[in-house]
Amino acid sequence: MTAVDDLGLTIDIRERYRDVVSEKWPVIVTPQHDELLSSWLHRLAYANGIAPRPFARVLGLNAGMWSASLDLKLPADVENLLRAHTGISPQRLSAMMLTRSSLKPLLLPLRSSGRRDSSTWLQFCPRCLAEDAQPHFRQQWRLAIQVSCATHRCGLRDRCPSCRSRIAAFDQTELVPQHFCIRCGFDLRRASKVPMSPPAVRLNQCINDICRLEAITGSLRSGVLVQRLLRMPSVSDRFPTASLSSLSTSMRIRCVERLANRPTDWLTADEDAMAAHWRRSILLAGGHAPLIAQHADALEQKRHRRPATSRRKPTAELSALLGAYVRMMEDPRRRRTRHQGGRHSG
Ligand SMILES: [Zn+2]
Ligand SMILES: [Zn+2]
Repeated sequence: MTAVDDLGLTIDIRERYRDVVSEKWPVIVTPQHDELLSSWLHRLAYANGIAPRPFARVLGLNAGMWSASLDLKLPADVENLLRAHTGISPQRLSAMMLTRSSLKPLLLPLRSSGRRDSSTWLQFCPRCLAEDAQPHFRQQWRLAIQVSCATHRCGLRDRCPSCRSRIAAFDQTELVPQHFCIRCGFDLRRASKVPMSPPAVRLNQCINDICRLEAITGSLRSGVLVQRLLRMPSVSDRFPTASLSSLSTSMRIRCVERLANRPTDWLTADEDAMAAHWRRSILLAGGHAPLIAQHADALEQKRHRRPATSRRKPTAELSALLGAYVRMMEDPRRRRTRHQGGRHSG
């Protein structure tokens, strides 16, 4: 702040040191692994004794889906305010956001038609919430392709099982943790398990692994796989005109259940022979982690078959294999052979 005194001298009025250091809010909340920014903000508000809706005003925002919008775009003044009051680093903030995610086209929309069979913006696994020391909402629960929990082998939910309303913690006016329904107060951790057949959970996990892998390699950007996934309701013959991201989680689970009993050509066929090969491999193994485990086992067996003098240490770590895949995908020679229908080995 600058003032001019009677003698015409310019005086800078500086903030007092005590004021600067006391900017921090009383309780600092640590972001959890894979937590959404909105989820962290709701926990931060609660821990400091403010309900989420009035907390929006603290951040200089209007009510509505303020926190869900921040997951996608964080204005500089809100970022500065959060950094000043919590000490959180820009890297940690950006790790909780979906702004730069290659999976953005597969996010559930923030708008909802309000119909029973339409999508809501966020899903949850009741068992994950129940087992969390700090119940929080994961980034992958925002994705239309994610309909199951790989840990608990069950389907996700997108509504309160008691009153059928969507998750709206951003609108909470009372001091209640975010895993309680804001309309009826139901504890979402107590929701029953959504049954899903093992082949459907497996297919869903494979689809997620394929997307994540192609997001890393950059091939997801071409949009071909994304468009195919968004057409899953039509491929499954369940909802011919609907886009995947417009359907409720239970409708999307039905699509995956039906596709789990069908050939996977709709997913694997691709003019990029390498992408097709990796998709088939992931589907055959039942996911990326099992595929890597198979490669590691094969290398280990090969090692034991060799004479002791020629043994080499197996190096089939996930990061190494992913790195090799990325290099192969980026290899200009492969791009030249890509349209020649040549067979590539993994
Ligand atoms: Zn779970
Ligand atoms: Zn409810």
